Amino acid sequence: MSDDEKHSKDFIRSIIDDDGRSGKHGGRVATRFPPEPNGYLHIGHAKSICLNFGVASEYGGKCHLRFDDTNPAKEDTEFVDSIKRDVRWLGFEWGENEFFASDYFELLYAYAERLIEKGKAYVDSLSAEEIREYRGTLTEPGKNSPHRDRSVEENLDLFRRMRAGEFEDGTHVLRAKIDMASGNINMRDPTLYRIRRVTHHRTGDKWCIYPMYDYTHCLSDAEEKITHSLCTLEFEDHRPLYNWVLDELETPSHPQQIEFARLNLNYTVLSKRKLLRLVAEKHVDGWTDPRMPTIAGLRRRGYPPEAIRAFCERIGIAKRDSTVDVAMLEHAVREHLNSVSNRYMAVIDPLRVVIDNYPEGESDELDAVNNPEDPGAGSRKVPFSKVLYIEREDFREDAPRKFFRLAPGREVRLRYAYFITCNEVIKDDAGEIVELRCTYDPATRGGDSPDGRKVKGTLHWVSAEHAVEAEVRLYDRLFEVENPEAAGKDADFTETINPNSLEVRPRCFLEPALAGVKPGETVQFERLGYFCADEVDAKPGALVFNRTVTLRDAWARMEKKG
Ligand code: ATP
Ligand code: MG
Repeated sequence: MSDDEKHSKDFIRSIIDDDGRSGKHGGRVATRFPPEPNGYLHIGHAKSICLNFGVASEYGGKCHLRFDDTNPAKEDTEFVDSIKRDVRWLGFEWGENEFFASDYFELLYAYAERLIEKGKAYVDSLSAEEIREYRGTLTEPGKNSPHRDRSVEENLDLFRRMRAGEFEDGTHVLRAKIDMASGNINMRDPTLYRIRRVTHHRTGDKWCIYPMYDYTHCLSDAEEKITHSLCTLEFEDHRPLYNWVLDELETPSHPQQIEFARLNLNYTVLSKRKLLRLVAEKHVDGWTDPRMPTIAGLRRRGYPPEAIRAFCERIGIAKRDSTVDVAMLEHAVREHLNSVSNRYMAVIDPLRVVIDNYPEGESDELDAVNNPEDPGAGSRKVPFSKVLYIEREDFREDAPRKFFRLAPGREVRLRYAYFITCNEVIKDDAGEIVELRCTYDPATRGGDSPDGRKVKGTLHWVSAEHAVEAEVRLYDRLFEVENPEAAGKDADFTETINPNSLEVRPRCFLEPALAGVKPGETVQFERLGYFCADEVDAKPGALVFNRTVTLRDAWARMEKKG
């Protein structure tokens, strides 16, 4: 299937096709991804990034990265830097097309004066609360401000003095003069500028008036000659205002706003305001915590960019809101990691095993396949010796018949190595099992018995003497409920946080080859899942691995069932 066919059903690409045929934008395609630098990007933004950059590349156009930095109180260069890193990491490049709405402040100001001169904007001196009261409701029209009929001269004078810093914050605003009785509240003389003495992360203290989002966004799009301004559905009711501003100002270009459904995922929240709260209240360890749905969190968790892109492609672009099962995202992650990750052995809940008939002080090296899905990945040697670790849950003293792992008197295969039989269980004074005494069968080297003897279980293991130690972090969903926001606006979504979303295993034993895994690389620990070498907390000699996902694929099972 070509890229074209794959996307033939999505309505945005159909519109762009039509526009191409009619020559609407002179055959050009220019999109933009316009984040506000007030937080880290999340998986919902990835959907928008894949759409905007994807469309641009498929149609031979370009996609701008524009920082929509009109609200200085909440914005920061830390966020600008993280956004750039995340977009690049996802696999997209904007080249020279990096813009900031704040670069247009002078232009936006000039446009505002033009609106005033046309009698289409006025300075209002009602308080914020009065403006709210005058606005009306969904069922009642608003009413005109007593300042609505100020003369052009008076408005220009007041607006210039607003800029010059003559007035206190909140004493005046500039409003568009549209229609206080409009059925669309966004058209009831929306505010265009407010006075705010806040230092901006790029323009410093140059400005004490700042333009509002709706006014800035459309004019930035027009200035950059964007053709298709793709945004999420909540902006549908803002589209008349978007068009009003561009029509009144007769901008040289008039981009077309098209809305699509935002991504919602279950078991998480995807609103920057809520994510910020998780960070500020320390429910998580910062924006890059591997439990966060942020791009940076997912990266640290070990999610590959290819999997995120495949997921975004699979969910598609629709006009109606819905919620996607996070199992579908995890499925995409497993699918990719399965084909590219090397397999290793690691024991995350160690139980000591002594092989009584193995010679003291000796060791032996066994061949292990790096990735059965990828013959090119080759093989490695795994050391075996007298003292080993196996997973505690792979042994049961009172094993039922169907327990195919290790138990007293039973024989199992150690992966790539030998068959072993458990002869004795050693306990401490408290009755806890501290060691197993076993024997091995040298004739089963490599994991096969020459006499055709069968064993049901194959366990992973690590040689104690050769093992490297690591801290391993296991993650569960950050929220206990599917929809943390279900309880409504007033309920506190943090009450549904899963108290067991992080489990730290401080002393795990890994086969020595894992010491060479680079920070940020994701590998499979056989039988346990995929794990990513942590980039933040690992220090030389102190490895840290984050579990990316387990091996159980709930989504694949559901798909099979149909
Ligand atoms: P949030 O709702 O998380 O606060 P936002 O819309 O305020 O997000 P912006 O930085 O303004 O965040 O978003 C940049 C772009 O990403 C916008 O075009 C927005 O529509 C899009 N976007 C944000 N959230 C999602 C989402 N969940 N799904 C798809 N696109 C999204
Ligand atoms: Mg926004």
